[in-house]
Amino acid sequence: MAGERINLLGLPRAQLEAFVAQRLGAKPFRARQLMKWIYRRGADDFSAMSDLAQEFRAQLREGAEMGGGQIVTEQVSTDGTRKWMLRMDQVQGIETVYIPEPDRGTLCISSQVGCAMDCTFCATAQQGFNRNLSVAEIVGQVWLAQRELTGSRAAASRSGRVGGTRAITNIVFMGMGEPLANYRNVVPAMRIFMDDLGYDLSRRRVTLSTSGLVPQIYKLAEECNVALAVSLHAPNDELRNELVPINRKHPIAELLPACWHYLDQQNGRSVTFEYVMLDGVNDKPEHARQLAGLMQGRPAKLNLIPFNVFPGTRYRRSPAAVIARFRDILNDHGVIATTRKTRGDDIDAACGQLAGKVTDRTLVRLGAKLGSGARTAVEI
Ligand code: SAH
Repeated sequence: MAGERINLLGLPRAQLEAFVAQRLGAKPFRARQLMKWIYRRGADDFSAMSDLAQEFRAQLREGAEMGGGQIVTEQVSTDGTRKWMLRMDQVQGIETVYIPEPDRGTLCISSQVGCAMDCTFCATAQQGFNRNLSVAEIVGQVWLAQRELTGSRAAASRSGRVGGTRAITNIVFMGMGEPLANYRNVVPAMRIFMDDLGYDLSRRRVTLSTSGLVPQIYKLAEECNVALAVSLHAPNDELRNELVPINRKHPIAELLPACWHYLDQQNGRSVTFEYVMLDGVNDKPEHARQLAGLMQGRPAKLNLIPFNVFPGTRYRRSPAAVIARFRDILNDHGVIATTRKTRGDDIDAACGQLAGKVTDRTLVRLGAKLGSGARTAVEI
């Protein structure tokens, strides 16, 4: 039986109910009790689930488990940002970052080990791609972080009460990987984040950030309602083809209508467009004017991200005055633009600095593949 243990972490509610009923012969409300223990209290031990019958707990110990990876290292920035390196299997490592602010706590999670998108300014891209994370590994990042942040490990085993205050108020897919290239596992994980017996976050507090996988944006519009962020980074195809190679497959003229469609379907307020500020590359006033042309009158917000350096990069960060000017031009054209505050860069936890530990990678380089006209083997 041990070999057939089912991992309850990330199991959708209906499947958990089916497992509880069919495998354990228990009533469906047991599944709801289990969810509360797993997600609200961060329990990792069936024995501690004090409102479940002894016999049921014994059945669970035998037939089920809860596991989402292990924390290997923790680094804490001077600004309070924390970065965890998590081990997901024998060799692969991924990174998860917690960003505390006075009014919220944001967890930045990974969706893949490495990334195949090959964006030229991103440290994760340099690692290549190894594999998709499972639902349990995606949800496991939140589960592990919540336990670390609230000390619910101790609280759950002592009294079953929720430990500490709510530490994670927002979840963003802005760690390693392209979430829409792992659609199959990312969508069920987001459902757990929003389930009232899961992490109970509103749809505005779960953000999926994508480099622009157009067919999957249309699919998502039909199936799941979360906040959408899109890594634009350039106001024209020539430049975006170079910086974000997926643009060669799905150019700006296809990407933007997909974003507006998503909002229409989901009744959303706006799409956030991320724009990394690269010195002398995409930060000129003419770029700001072109960008304003694309966004004017649209339900869009621009998020300017000062480039974060990493070893071996050829890019530099735009000077603060250049970023401010760029933002002003957008604002003058009626486009809402803000500059993202860099957090955790002293521990390499800022945007694009997450490198994890990707070994055994298949060096899938999207740029090279699309350049030669070949079709790529990864799910894009
Ligand atoms: N694959 C997803 C999530 C990436 S990380 C996506 O492409 O949207 C979140 C944001 O950080 C993206 O907009 C990404 O382009 C940006 N980013 C990547 N490398 C960066 C760097 N070195 N400095 C600043 N931002 C970076």
